[in-house]
Amino acid sequence: MNRFKHIYIYMLSDKVDYNSILTYLTSMINCNIESRGADALYKYDLRDVAKMYARCKVNDVFRETAYSNVLISEDDIEYELSMLDGYLQPKPNTVYDGFCLQGIYSSMIDVEESSLDNVHIIMTDRLIATYSEEDMRYHLNTVVLGYPSIVSISGIVEAPAKPKEFYTLYYYYLSQGITINVDELKSIFKDMILEHDDPRLTDIVKGYVMQAVFYSILNDTPFCNEKRCILYNAHWQDEVIGAQIRDGGGLCRKHREVLDEFNRLHNTANSNSILTN
Ligand SMILES: [Zn+2]
Repeated sequence: MNRFKHIYIYMLSDKVDYNSILTYLTSMINCNIESRGADALYKYDLRDVAKMYARCKVNDVFRETAYSNVLISEDDIEYELSMLDGYLQPKPNTVYDGFCLQGIYSSMIDVEESSLDNVHIIMTDRLIATYSEEDMRYHLNTVVLGYPSIVSISGIVEAPAKPKEFYTLYYYYLSQGITINVDELKSIFKDMILEHDDPRLTDIVKGYVMQAVFYSILNDTPFCNEKRCILYNAHWQDEVIGAQIRDGGGLCRKHREVLDEFNRLHNTANSNSILTN
């Protein structure tokens, strides 16, 4: 078990209520938790940051991005600069290689905060994907775990599939030649699907941040088989809502014990350091 001392959350999205997320984390984990803005990461010239992002863009879903020799256009750099300046939201079809992003964020973290005592979690609106050797294509992700971990808020909406019934009805209408109003269709399934402006996202994101925290505690993939546990690796939007809000919103017994042990060890370490001071 890794007994880290600090968690740094970098808020690169304005879609969720960070105060609520920080209050939740503080109530769960016994260590120092600090929230930071983009300026804590983007210490280079913004044009260089824009180039880094442009280099991570997935241009072909069937071909792994080779970062080192990617040709980036001036348009790509300008697009990234507009996002960094806050004039533009990420386009819904722009996807970034998750490991490439992880590499650039890692290079932006201060060396003195790079030890295992520190956990860094980036929260972003950008869609992230990782390449699978199994079927030779990219797949969207909700989180990319590692150093640092990345939570994609757009990915929580886009990566898990909508309910099968949604697609059944969608293709039924198409086969009948009936014009479909997708918003109307979504409203039928509103309890089972997520939208980008969904107020439930704040509570759902808490579970994904906990997945990143547990990855750092266990030094391993933290996914749980228990559907009501916030560490459940959901592949359907309905499962996301179920695990994070409707049926669960908490940890299963096994993972609660892991967290209790982490908090207990941290208490002991703190009281020992007070005694030796
Ligand atoms: Zn669990």
